[in-house]
Amino acid sequence: MDFMFKRTYRGSLKCAILDWAGTTMDYGVYAPAVVFIEVYQRQGVEISMEEARGPMGMHKKVHIQKISEMPAVAKRWREIKGRHITSEDINKMFEGFVPLQPACLADYSKLIPGTLKVLADFKKRGMVTCSTTGYTRAMVDINLREAQKQGYYPDNTVGSDEVPAARPYPYACWKNAIDLQVWPVEACVKIGDTLPDVGEGLNAGMWVIAIALTGNEVGLNEEEVNALDLEDKKRRLERARDRLAMAGPHYVVDSI
Ligand SMILES: [Mg+2]
Repeated sequence: MDFMFKRTYRGSLKCAILDWAGTTMDYGVYAPAVVFIEVYQRQGVEISMEEARGPMGMHKKVHIQKISEMPAVAKRWREIKGRHITSEDINKMFEGFVPLQPACLADYSKLIPGTLKVLADFKKRGMVTCSTTGYTRAMVDINLREAQKQGYYPDNTVGSDEVPAARPYPYACWKNAIDLQVWPVEACVKIGDTLPDVGEGLNAGMWVIAIALTGNEVGLNEEEVNALDLEDKKRRLERARDRLAMAGPHYVVDSI
């Protein structure tokens, strides 16, 4: 036969899968960034805010490793320590990260403007809301607690350590769909601010919306964004939009 017929879902959206930092809370994604700087500092190696933010969205241990693979960081490490970084160093830094991160999560837990309104709109449309994250379960539980104080109650949450592999693998999106018994995947939309967020949603076969302004790509908090002059803001925003668009989401928006 010369033709084949393809089934296409034309129903409405049923589920929104939201990221945490930079998407619904922690405008500018400061909570993890400052801790990555701290764990490297404890090893005597300075890293910049930009280096700390580079691999954002991944499992935090993978993130620490990705920072170490940046040529400039690897060189700095060798110069200071007189040897290459090892997997033992990565393990040690992640062990240090685990207690440090929760200590500062609550400090950066303010909901991003618009979050509650969007969630109310989702609810009105009969959609469920849930979340994935680069944070482990213990860490995201702190986010959840702080979110609930501000009126945000997602129907389900999956930590990066509750699936076989974290972003950009699709498992956390699928686990949410299974937990909430939502299907097909085309009825789900993944919303997040990093390249691994986009990868996760696309790999899961879902709609994907990337967030440019309030997330890691611009990497500034609300006051810092408001203090930018218009040209500078435009330049940073365009760079963020372009970088996210290259990853292939269906839409890029500025904020939730
Ligand atoms: Mg994020």
